[in-house]
Amino acid sequence: MLENMIEEILIDEKTLKNRVKELGESITAAYDEDDDIVLVCILRGGFIFMADLARQVKLPVACDFMDVTSYEGTTSTGNVRIIKDLEESIEGKHVILVEDIIDTGLTLKHVISMLETRKPKSIKVCTLLDKPARRSVKEVEADWNGFEIPNKFVIGYGLDYDEKYRNLPYIFVPKPELYEDN
Ligand code: 5GP
Repeated sequence: MLENMIEEILIDEKTLKNRVKELGESITAAYDEDDDIVLVCILRGGFIFMADLARQVKLPVACDFMDVTSYEGTTSTGNVRIIKDLEESIEGKHVILVEDIIDTGLTLKHVISMLETRKPKSIKVCTLLDKPARRSVKEVEADWNGFEIPNKFVIGYGLDYDEKYRNLPYIFVPKPELYEDN
């Protein structure tokens, strides 16, 4: 049963909704109507956040998707490989990278350096969650950050455990038994 594996609901549905709205407003205020903007979702963890965030940005933005190596287990390996690249060119465009969480920062560092070679006009980062205690790449900073969270493994609202639970509408800390049993 799902309830049995929740240690703590860290961010509930209403809090997520309010914060995503604020982030959307802040992004809207940072650009002009005629700027060429593309929201780039880092799959798969970012897809729920991106869908909600995009609807709170009141500008004509494009949406594109990029899949990089999935996260195995509960610690990051730093091995970033493109599984699915963007469909459109980002040259001369304002890119906003939409991430579920910045943990070590390694994924973002690799994605940013890769995208910079494609000559975008700017690259900014909007992350839902930030785990600053785990950062190994100090120079990686989000321009928009939903919530700073403690150094705990979290699940829900796009974030998975073993590819499951991304569909849960809140963010929770699982009981250790969830991954100890596997
Ligand atoms: P990085 O360590 O490179 O910053 O994090 C890369 C990816 O690892 C994130 O985009 C996310 O998908 C995954 N990740 C990091 N921390 C967590 C966590 O607490 N829970 C889950 N489910 N995934 C995480």
